[in-house]
Amino acid sequence: MKKKETLLIALGGNALIHKGQTGTVEEQFENLRVPVRQIARLSEKYRIIITHGNGPQVGNLLLQQECCDAVPKLPLEILVAQTQGQIGYMIESTLDTTFMELGINGRQHFISLITYVVVDENDPAFQNPSKPIGPVYTEKQANAAPYPTRKTVKGYRRVVVSPEPVTIVEKREIKKLIDMGFIVICCGGGGIPVIREGREFHGVDAVIDKDLVSAKLAEEVGVDIFIIATDVPGAILNYGKPKEKVLRSASLSQAEQYLKEGHFPPGSMRPKIEAAMRFIQTCGKRAVITSIQGIEDAVAGKTGTEIIS
Ligand code: ADP
Ligand code: MG
Repeated sequence: MKKKETLLIALGGNALIHKGQTGTVEEQFENLRVPVRQIARLSEKYRIIITHGNGPQVGNLLLQQECCDAVPKLPLEILVAQTQGQIGYMIESTLDTTFMELGINGRQHFISLITYVVVDENDPAFQNPSKPIGPVYTEKQANAAPYPTRKTVKGYRRVVVSPEPVTIVEKREIKKLIDMGFIVICCGGGGIPVIREGREFHGVDAVIDKDLVSAKLAEEVGVDIFIIATDVPGAILNYGKPKEKVLRSASLSQAEQYLKEGHFPPGSMRPKIEAAMRFIQTCGKRAVITSIQGIEDAVAGKTGTEIIS
């Protein structure tokens, strides 16, 4: 029998909490059903790896602990680990229910894996917090906040350091699990950022972008198709302006040009474009940026923004 192709689906943390929602657990479970139903169907044809973001969730955890002085504060790396557990659990249990509903229960196995990702302590990103996390603030609230904030297309948000992923510590385990037929949920929230000191790993106060870590994972374990699912239909030129337009496809050189022209801001659409470009340059066959609703159609080539060589 021909080996199934491997499909990597990167789910946006923002897609689990929709615009205007406060992000209750009920809302997040409900929102997850949309991508998970599609993933369950796709798992009949493809080997599946799921990665996910954690921007809103990790930002909320930071806020929660800042509201309480009764217990010691946890560093960001521990909060990222917490979101791997929380979101991994939500994805797994939704997969479980969905397989049962679709009648494909019993044949699919899945697992969430705590994943560390090595970063370089000399990465210039440590000098320049750039990744938006947590809720959206007004300008006044942002100016009064005791941490760095930045204006994004969604409004003012807290920003944290976001270094480049160098390597995924559990890459061999992930590869083995995929080869054994597991659906693997890994690199959650971009992975727990660690630096290597001799034979030891130490966590650092940062959040790695889940799109960039997904491209690195694809390179290290081998992936055929990479779907980046988010809360917009694809990469949009002139985003938020009167002449905005969803791109259906872009060659590597066109994508590079659009990046230079500033169509895709850091911390949101830029890493998706860069991740898709790296994937096509290093290992992959197809990379598509699409909406959470459009995952199956994007795999079929019917929607989203495809980056082509
Ligand atoms: P995710 O959690 O899926 O990674 P992000 O917030 O990081 O989501 O990135 C998706 C967001 O990027 C969209 O909600 C949109 O507001 C923003 N964005 C900025 N520029 C663009 C663009 N040119 N095209 C599409 N979306 C864009
Ligand atoms: Mg993102």
